[in-house]
Amino acid sequence: MRHRIAVIGGGPAGLTFARVLHRRDHPVTVLERDPAPDARPPGGTLDLHEKLGQLALDKAGLLAEFQALSRPEGQAMRILDTDGTVLRDWQPRPDDRANPEIDRGQLRDLLLGPLDVQWGRGVTEVQPGTRDGVLVRFADGRQETYDLVVGADGAWSRVRPAVSPATPHYTGVTFVETSLDDVDTRHPDLARLIGDGSVAAYGVNRALVAQRNSGGHVKVYAQFRAPLDWHTDLDRHLGLNRRADPDTSLDLADVEAVRSSLLALYDGWTAPVLDLLRHGTAFVHRPLYVLPVSHTWAHVPGVTLLGDAAHLMPPLGVGANLAMLEGAELAESVAAAPGDLDKVVRAFEEQMWARAGRWAEITAAGLERLVSPDPTEALAFFDEVQPS
Ligand SMILES: Cc1cc2nc3c(=O)[nH]c(=O)nc-3n(C[C@H](O)[C@H](O)[C@H](O)COP(=O)(O)OP(=O)(O)OC[C@H]3O[C@@H](n4cnc5c(N)ncnc54)[C@H](O)[C@@H]3O)c2cc1C
Repeated sequence: MRHRIAVIGGGPAGLTFARVLHRRDHPVTVLERDPAPDARPPGGTLDLHEKLGQLALDKAGLLAEFQALSRPEGQAMRILDTDGTVLRDWQPRPDDRANPEIDRGQLRDLLLGPLDVQWGRGVTEVQPGTRDGVLVRFADGRQETYDLVVGADGAWSRVRPAVSPATPHYTGVTFVETSLDDVDTRHPDLARLIGDGSVAAYGVNRALVAQRNSGGHVKVYAQFRAPLDWHTDLDRHLGLNRRADPDTSLDLADVEAVRSSLLALYDGWTAPVLDLLRHGTAFVHRPLYVLPVSHTWAHVPGVTLLGDAAHLMPPLGVGANLAMLEGAELAESVAAAPGDLDKVVRAFEEQMWARAGRWAEITAAGLERLVSPDPTEALAFFDEVQPS
């Protein structure tokens, strides 16, 4: 028996789910809000772990293609003091395939392959338990029904309210992201500082991290503890008492004002690290939100969640990995026992909750240590998690 299955969201979770079902000749409808695959910048690089994201790609039959595209050398990690002293410099062995990096855009294209995604289909609401199944309402006023709706629509999921009242809350840590292009030719000193992978410097309640993507592109993340509305009063919230102007608010759309505020926030840090901010192009404000650790819900027939929609956690290199493995596992279970859909989904949820709960604890504790009043905590964290 073939059920009508829809996955909402074409991110790592939704596309992996759809791709594994597609591989098993099981029909699935992929509904994505973006009007086209390249409608917005795809974001930075992702490291895919051997036992999580890579396992999911194996289930999708895409591991060899991933290995050809990914950057094992991107696993390199250098840690600096705020004065520029190199504290750690981990280089992967040439055969190290534990966590190679891949650009998000490359991963999306790899997963998309032959999938027939319906673009521009923003979902507004999901209503389980109607006579004809689970009702999905769209922003354009249309509606459709399915036997199973899988919410893979990320942090601000529109599917989640059908199963859970939980909403994401602010962690107290904000990222401001900027980028450098053609780093090897335009900023060779910074290219050497960053190396093949990432460089990070940790200070009191703040960090600066730069990650190499493919094609000489670099993403830089200024990470700091601050109230959510820090930009409304820089003096009060960040102690940046540097302006004669009584208006100490910051317009986040004003690139030069954001740059100079960040340079003030990181005042005293070594010049090469500050150059990452000086040469950054645009600045994107990303306050970090999370769902409660061990978020679960009472099972609702016909609806489930995957990835960030189910367990948004701090970005410590595991969210996309979990999202993909969950997508692959649910798809395999559905394809293996299509006559027992509800039982399959219940079992999947139990397994997802247990694993995601463990990672949510680990990443919450990790964020506390990486953006911490005591910068030696960040170093201790890396000493624990990096292979020696
Ligand atoms: C700075 C940063 C760095 C990170 N680095 C890593 C890393 O190295 N490794 C790692 O594993 N994880 C990393 N993560 C976490 C990772 O990005 C997420 O966990 C992952 O993208 C979750 O995948 P997802 O498919 O669940 O959700 P998303 O990637 O958020 O995808 C959701 C999709 O649903 C669509 N959508 C949203 N709303 C609707 C709607 N109403 N209707 C239809 N479609 C909708 C969106 O357009 C999107 O395409 C990082 C996160 C950040 C912020």
